[in-house]
Amino acid sequence: MGHRVFVTSLISQHYLSKLKEHMEVELNPLNRQLTQSEIMQFARDKDALLCTVSDEINSEVMDACPRLKIISNYGVGYNNIDVERATSSGIIVTNTPGVLTDATADLTWALLLDVARRVSEGDRLVRRGEWKGWEPGFLLGTEVTGKTLGIIGMGRIGQAVAYRARAFHMNVIYYSRTRLSSEEEQKLGVRWSSLNELLEEADFVSLHAPYTPETHHLIGRQALKKMKKSAYLINTARGPLVDEPSLAEALRNQEIAGAALDVYEREPEVPAELKEMENVVLAPHMGSATVETREAMARLAVENLICFLKGERPPHVVNTRAWEKLYG
Ligand code: NAP
Repeated sequence: MGHRVFVTSLISQHYLSKLKEHMEVELNPLNRQLTQSEIMQFARDKDALLCTVSDEINSEVMDACPRLKIISNYGVGYNNIDVERATSSGIIVTNTPGVLTDATADLTWALLLDVARRVSEGDRLVRRGEWKGWEPGFLLGTEVTGKTLGIIGMGRIGQAVAYRARAFHMNVIYYSRTRLSSEEEQKLGVRWSSLNELLEEADFVSLHAPYTPETHHLIGRQALKKMKKSAYLINTARGPLVDEPSLAEALRNQEIAGAALDVYEREPEVPAELKEMENVVLAPHMGSATVETREAMARLAVENLICFLKGERPPHVVNTRAWEKLYG
């Protein structure tokens, strides 16, 4: 005992209890998301922090928390943490990869099918009492089966999305930082392409790369102009991969057919113009939001902390350089 952790959001009670067996746990006492200065205030005297992807843990926070030795992120994407700064300050950063792959791939498919087949649009129409009955030309969408899916970022989630595309007999092309081996490509039934080729060919462009300086506004004005007029953009990765004003412009000018988004540049803000568009599906960052997945994320986030306290290497260290230098 003796180590103290601050937990920014209420996570699984079961795993919080497990954490309490090893550490003094202080949980966010306010029933809402904390501001940065509140995080600094609560974590000031703590050795560890368990945070979520909504908490921005930048150098200011690290400066305010001089005892901090580990940041356990409840999420796979860790763009909310200044990892470089953590590394230079000897703070270990961990995340929760793998356990949310299927849930996020499933949601990607829910959004893709929704925007292509106008499900949410139809739901709104029914609730407004405007449904007049079956008609041959009513609410026609786009066929998904047999179309071309373009995946950007072929990691765990990208591959899980590609795997599901087989059920829809789709032609799957992908662009990623690292090309898969030819055996992996064959097994998944996918073909590597350049980013430009993917944008020009895909009927559905789905984003699965992390948010980094290289992926900032990867989908901007130029990229959107390359897409087919009949194509849809799906984003369940991170908001700032897409330049939102350019997306709104492309939709307004009918340069693409629609978009389905789970993530936004300034969450929880969603551009007003997108909310007005019937051909845009808007989900509130819920890729990993299943009971099973959130429990598994809590398990990994807590396991990372407990291992660290025991002097063992946590299973999912992001900044391995810091681990090796300090504890390796
Ligand atoms: P992952 O396994 O690390 O996959 C990311 C893939 O993107 C890797 O193949 C990576 O290539 C590639 N990549 C990195 N930089 C790139 C670039 N500049 N251009 C093209 N490809 C690039 O991660 P994951 O578990 O699949 O998760 C992917 C992202 O999904 C996370 O970072 C997170 O932001 C997001 N996510 C969102 C939700 C949600 O709730 N909506 C839930 C979970 C995850 P390398 O092989 O070279 O690294």
